[in-house]
Amino acid sequence: MKPLSNFRITITFLLGLASSVILAWFFYTAESQAINTEFNSDVDAQLFSIEKEISLNFEALYAIKGLYDSSDNVTASEFNRFATEVLSRYPNIQALEWVPRVNKIERSKIELERQQQYPHFEITERDPQGKIIRAKQRNEYFPVYYIEPLTGNEPTFGFDLASNTERLKALTQSRETGSLTASSSITLVQDNITQQAFLAFLPIYHGMPTTAEKRYSQLAGFALGIFKIDDLINNSTLNTSIRGINLTLIDETSVPTKILHSRQVSNISNTNTSIHYMKQLNLIGGRQWTILATPSKGYIYERRSSTPLVIFLLGFIIVSYSVVNSLFIAHHAEVIQKAVEERTFELKKAQQELEKISMQDGLTGIANRRHFDIYLEQEWAHSIREQQPISLIMIDIDYFKQFNDTYGHLAGDHCLKDIAYQLHSTLRRTTDLATRYGGEEFAIILPNTSDAYILSELCRENIENLHIPHSTSKTANHVTISVGFGTIFPKKGASVRELIILADKALYKAKKAGRNTVCSL
Ligand code: GH3
Ligand code: MG
Ligand code: MG
Repeated sequence: MKPLSNFRITITFLLGLASSVILAWFFYTAESQAINTEFNSDVDAQLFSIEKEISLNFEALYAIKGLYDSSDNVTASEFNRFATEVLSRYPNIQALEWVPRVNKIERSKIELERQQQYPHFEITERDPQGKIIRAKQRNEYFPVYYIEPLTGNEPTFGFDLASNTERLKALTQSRETGSLTASSSITLVQDNITQQAFLAFLPIYHGMPTTAEKRYSQLAGFALGIFKIDDLINNSTLNTSIRGINLTLIDETSVPTKILHSRQVSNISNTNTSIHYMKQLNLIGGRQWTILATPSKGYIYERRSSTPLVIFLLGFIIVSYSVVNSLFIAHHAEVIQKAVEERTFELKKAQQELEKISMQDGLTGIANRRHFDIYLEQEWAHSIREQQPISLIMIDIDYFKQFNDTYGHLAGDHCLKDIAYQLHSTLRRTTDLATRYGGEEFAIILPNTSDAYILSELCRENIENLHIPHSTSKTANHVTISVGFGTIFPKKGASVRELIILADKALYKAKKAGRNTVCSL
């Protein structure tokens, strides 16, 4: 096959292949973007449901607030009944507490009140080693006065929240703003399962204070809830619908930032780390929580289609098919071209052969009358152009009728062949042409020749010298010829017939002169 078509086919193949890859890659990228968008919206939905779950759970604190707003003196049993009822509806809450504001004068009174039910009750704090001890003297205490359920939360009972500087800061802020405030997370151990929890406290006032100062002075205490973060998230309604997403919930308000919840559905090797989504939740009790999500490989695989692969394979098959087809066609075209070339060559050869045959005399093999006419016309024109002379010799066998009569027609043919061959052999110049003019007449065209006598005489002698027996000839006892020749310097517009008539007349003259002779006019 030609190198050019090979090159073209290779380029076509490579371009086709590249197009398939680009198209497949385009679909793959579009699909990746769609997956990414779906992933983000899945995470958004999860985030929304977490926010909803938390604000729903905060309602428990407002319920406690409602209890205190409607009664000046909530008894232990009232709180217990109410909180138990609320807790049964909010399983994510570890405990609900009432934390009154207690000044130093009220301390002993408060402790005595609770000791009626719990003889060991006292307002406590932790020493630097973490041991629970009786709280030191201070102006204000925020002890856990009621707690529901008590079981499992005993260490907290009586604990003064004001003993911890950071917590006191948060309490003060909540007290002044009147808004629900969340703490940084704490670690809860329950049934040997560890999870993060946070405290949220809602300030409860005497009356309805409207300024920070009034809120500060009119504070009655706090409704406090301990919220289990893992449970909150696991119970958020959409949780089960987003399988395959790794979630980490971070508290950014904590210094340093703290991980509140982490749910890894896959290990890191099975996580698509190129996609991740980070979004901040609305402030939760004044704290900034952020969610960081990454999809597992399973999440991506579930959403990937085989379209890009199918497109690539289809493209590859089409390109390969086209290339094989092109190769086949190119090969086929080459075979056809070769065959055409061969046929053309054969045709040309046959044409040349035909041309030759059409110019050749069938009996003698020398040029025929047709060839004579064409060649003479051509050389005549040539002589006019070149201003050169041209000669024509006309030859006729003497008493050839008698020869036929004596020796038969076949012998006559044989004689014609011998004479033709002899005349042809007598010529020396390649431009001279011996022809069979008709019957037993021959003509010799001599371009660029001014005197044809010598050649005419040579022809006559050579035929005589053949000594072909001719017993009935009246000139000799062998075959002789009569020869007439003529020469013309043709002028523009002159006809070739002039030369033929001239030579013909000379031949007639030779016949008249007794045959076996050469004449010109
Ligand atoms: P002259 O000397 O006047 O030319 O006498 P001639 O007999 O040659 O002239 P004529 O024109 O009477 O006869 C020519 C003869 O040539 C007649 C014909 O039979 C013979 N002839 C012509 N063509 C052929 C041929 O192809 N083969 C054979 N065997 N004879 C031929
Ligand atoms: Mg004749
Ligand atoms: Mg004759």
